[in-house]
Amino acid sequence: MVEVVDTLKRQPGDAGEPQPQSGERGPLYEARRKIYPMRVQGTYRRLKWSLAWIFMAIYFIGPWLRWDRGPGAPDQAILVDLANRRFYFFFIEIWPQEFYYVAGLLILAGIGLFIATSMVGRAWCGYACWQTVWTDLFMMVERKVEGDRNAQIRLDNAPWTAGKIIKRGLKHGIWLLIAFWTAFTFILYFGNAPDVTYWFFTGQAPSVAYWTVAIMGAITYMFAGHMREQVCIYMCPWPRIQGAMVDEDTLIVTYHDWRGEPRGSKRDRKKHPEIAYGDCIDCGKCVHVCPTGIDIRDGQQLACITCALCIDACNSVMEKLGKPQGLISYSSVKAYNDLAAGKMKQVDFGWRNFIRPRTIVYITIWSLVAAGMLFHLATRDRLQVNVIHDRNPMFVRLSTGEIRNAYTVRVLNMQLEPRQFRIALEGLEGGRMRILGIDKPPAREFTFEVKGNKARALRVFVTVPQQQITQQRMEFAFRIEALDDAGKVAEMSRRKAVFEAPPPKR
Ligand code: SF4
Ligand code: SF4
Repeated sequence: MVEVVDTLKRQPGDAGEPQPQSGERGPLYEARRKIYPMRVQGTYRRLKWSLAWIFMAIYFIGPWLRWDRGPGAPDQAILVDLANRRFYFFFIEIWPQEFYYVAGLLILAGIGLFIATSMVGRAWCGYACWQTVWTDLFMMVERKVEGDRNAQIRLDNAPWTAGKIIKRGLKHGIWLLIAFWTAFTFILYFGNAPDVTYWFFTGQAPSVAYWTVAIMGAITYMFAGHMREQVCIYMCPWPRIQGAMVDEDTLIVTYHDWRGEPRGSKRDRKKHPEIAYGDCIDCGKCVHVCPTGIDIRDGQQLACITCALCIDACNSVMEKLGKPQGLISYSSVKAYNDLAAGKMKQVDFGWRNFIRPRTIVYITIWSLVAAGMLFHLATRDRLQVNVIHDRNPMFVRLSTGEIRNAYTVRVLNMQLEPRQFRIALEGLEGGRMRILGIDKPPAREFTFEVKGNKARALRVFVTVPQQQITQQRMEFAFRIEALDDAGKVAEMSRRKAVFEAPPPKR
């Protein structure tokens, strides 16, 4: 496990912190220092924007995608249909009793996060997390309206003039609009998007829709606009857990102090020509671009979300100085040590470094769960049957001398279109069925129809002549077959049942 510095718990007297006076304790609460991240350009910034636009496009366009499921069925590609207790994802339809698929997806996502973290550290936090993506969007708006870091600091310190009020109003107005649209898009996943939009803006949507938008919108506005890095540092448990998945081969954002130290500004270098300064000119650009406001030169920290913007910043400085890039770079602890010891000239990290016992175990578990889920999904039943035996009375003796038991057979057609089914008795010598609502003489099998996505409860009366009663409890089964258009058996379900009778006459 890689040791991570928790800068948040530093107290007076810790290394690098001011010494406490005798008997003095460090503050238990440190007021938030506002961070003004500076705009930066570079490879990782471009990668972050590309991914952010893709994720936002998926989220905002998602509920408007259509998928034809046939007449009477919802045509929204991704839909959580709470009223009918169904989840639709393109061609996949999940019923409440199949919720284990959702649990499986969560397990896959969790293990996927383990794999990514063990390979490339907190890449999820830096590139894909909702908090990161929306905070980037809110910061972009802030820069467009108020200017970059220095302009924002100046505006913060300026008195309240008409210009400042207009800028602040515009910024918060756009933030609120984005927050509203984010929350509004969320509710579109729970109903037909065009209908929900119409109902929402004409005041006909249920009150829960307005409450959801208000609460989610407020959370988005607060988290991405105001709390930003506080969410990553204090609220999210992931930084505390990730240490268990990171080892000395994991790629992390690293400052190569063996190359950069002793650091010195241009002035320092002029003043002390006798000192052999390292490559770091102490310009602070890596700190100014950091969205969590930390100094990567202090070492690995819990607050680092591995966004790599400090790499872009430092590379641009090195380029101007005509020095090799990579003073801050993605590197593993092992590569860092090899570079520092001169065993390696530059970070040499290939796909082989990703294949380690830890990642092999994670990938194997992930693959097994994914394969199991896919197999189950491809072979899952679209027919469910439930049989309940009437308990009171257990049996009835008819005037003909026959014994009759009653059952409720519930057949659930989990396909979208109506289907023909056949119910038949297996075993129970001499037994015959009669089904309430099907006007046919007693027989050992019947066919009936069940509408798409519906259940049909059949009242089934089974009679057995007295002379064929051999025991008080006779086991048999209902065989229910789903028939295709050609009348062939497409699916079959067998449910065991018991026929109760008075003791046989001897
Ligand atoms: S230290 Fe670098 S990688 Fe870490 S959060 Fe700050 S800018 Fe991103
Ligand atoms: S950007 Fe590079 S040169 Fe500037 S302070 Fe950071 S590490 Fe040093």
